[in-house]
Amino acid sequence: MSEAGSGRITKVVIVGGGTAGWMTAAALSRLVAGGVSVTLVESEEIGTVGVGEATIPSLLDFNRMLGIDEDAFVRATSATFKLGIEFRDWTRLGDAYLHPFGTHGRDVEGVSFHQLWLRQRASGAGDPGSIGDYCLSAVAARRGRFNRPSANPQSVLSTLSYAFHFDAALYAAFLRNLAEQDGVVRVEGRVVAVDKDPDAGSITAVQLADGRSIDGELFIDCSGFRSLLLGDALRVPFTSWQHWLPCDRAWAVPSARQGPLTPYTRATADTAGWRWRIPLQHRVGNGYVYSSAHIDDDAARDALLAGLEGTALGEPRQLRFVAGRRDRLWEKNCIAIGLSGGFLEPLESTSIHLIQSGITRLMTLFPDTGFSTVETAEYNRVMLREYEQVRDFIILHYHATQRSDSPFWEHCRTMALPESLQSKLELWSGKARVFREQGELFTPDSWIAVLLGQGIDPQSFDPLAAVLPAGETARFLAHVRDMIDKTAAAMPTHEQFIAQHCAAPMRQSA
Ligand SMILES: Cc1cc2nc3c(=O)[nH]c(=O)nc-3n(C[C@H](O)[C@H](O)[C@H](O)COP(=O)(O)OP(=O)(O)OC[C@H]3O[C@@H](n4cnc5c(N)ncnc54)[C@H](O)[C@@H]3O)c2cc1C
Repeated sequence: MSEAGSGRITKVVIVGGGTAGWMTAAALSRLVAGGVSVTLVESEEIGTVGVGEATIPSLLDFNRMLGIDEDAFVRATSATFKLGIEFRDWTRLGDAYLHPFGTHGRDVEGVSFHQLWLRQRASGAGDPGSIGDYCLSAVAARRGRFNRPSANPQSVLSTLSYAFHFDAALYAAFLRNLAEQDGVVRVEGRVVAVDKDPDAGSITAVQLADGRSIDGELFIDCSGFRSLLLGDALRVPFTSWQHWLPCDRAWAVPSARQGPLTPYTRATADTAGWRWRIPLQHRVGNGYVYSSAHIDDDAARDALLAGLEGTALGEPRQLRFVAGRRDRLWEKNCIAIGLSGGFLEPLESTSIHLIQSGITRLMTLFPDTGFSTVETAEYNRVMLREYEQVRDFIILHYHATQRSDSPFWEHCRTMALPESLQSKLELWSGKARVFREQGELFTPDSWIAVLLGQGIDPQSFDPLAAVLPAGETARFLAHVRDMIDKTAAAMPTHEQFIAQHCAAPMRQSA
């Protein structure tokens, strides 16, 4: 039953045709068959942010929801498979660890696997190796191998989890094609003004530079950092998190492919931030995310170019941003999805996930013209909490460092933390406890990989880790490690898998 005076939404307007706009359009295109018009306005003149190439496994759910054939998607976007992220030089210069997707080992009688591993390590009776040795995605990544997981839960291969690296422009084009096939109407034009209802203050139409006006009942702001609707028109304030995440600029440049196709993203810590390396089928995406308070633009650009493995395919492009988010992501009849709502730097490749999260929650709470304030508040509550949870996970990487070789790392190592992260760290520091909050994106396995990878050793472990006699624990760990190693060794290489299933057509590399 609707609230008094409210009815069905019949006109949805999406402003912006970047990754956020076309993901939203593809998801909402299913409404068209039910008589809802979905219009997307974008401006070629303005263009898109054009980066955003690494993803996390939740994207598979989005693809499934849209009925996308995965091999066709990989070919169309020149994608590769991603089993995790390798972090180099984050704890100390020369150190490296992997944050893999998937799980570590197998829990025993309700005791988390990492507790058994910690107990074995503490016993001094034989080196259990690194926690990554017990995660199939990590071992396969190190060996440069890939296969899709098995659907059989008894198989070790069922524990593998993966995501993609793809070309952001090709991804938007792929989704545009899907959305247009399903009846989404694309309008080329530049929005120059936003009309609002004088009483309610909600948005009624957007005005284009050529004089056209596009009216609607529900407006999705996918206008990128400009935040034309939520920020400019509805004046929802932005809260900056720059004191925790000081990086505010990036240089990005593609380079020629060289060497084997690694099935993981690389994030290398640098003097005033970090550099990404994202392998695609036709090129490698590279960037340096840095704090402009700690390094000047030219020095950051030089560091990026000096660190490339292959020849640069063009001039580096600069991007500017501030970490943070709008205080509400849904206001009146407008929802901001993508960069218009907030930005967290790409260290854990979470922006596209947050777009997806915004879309699925919008679908769950799809409004009528009454725009229930209770539902809007619920949307804001869960989305804002998710932003904070992701923020905390990213801050952890910066803070948990022993580096003091530059003012940037000195700042990160000594900064005060958000309370939510501080209490997570305290729980970990005692008996290595990790709990997943409701709706939290990152699993305990992710936290464990990064906490141990960043060198935060707990003082002790769960007393229940003595669930197995010591000798049996050692045999169990050795067995798990061996099974994982053999399974990874039997997989095809990443290149072989792609060549066999989903090689992209030859493309211009830039
Ligand atoms: C350096 C960097 C690296 C990143 N790497 C990753 C990554 O690896 N993984 C990840 O998940 N995310 C990453 N992101 C984030 C990711 O790029 C974005 O989340 C994603 O591209 C979505 O952007 P968007 O669609 O919100 O905005 P945009 O791509 O900026 O699109 C905005 C759209 O709005 C339109 N528009 C703007 N103003 C007007 C107007 N007046 N009239 C009409 N149209 C208008 C534009 O034309 C465009 O179509 C990265 C971001 C940055 C800055």
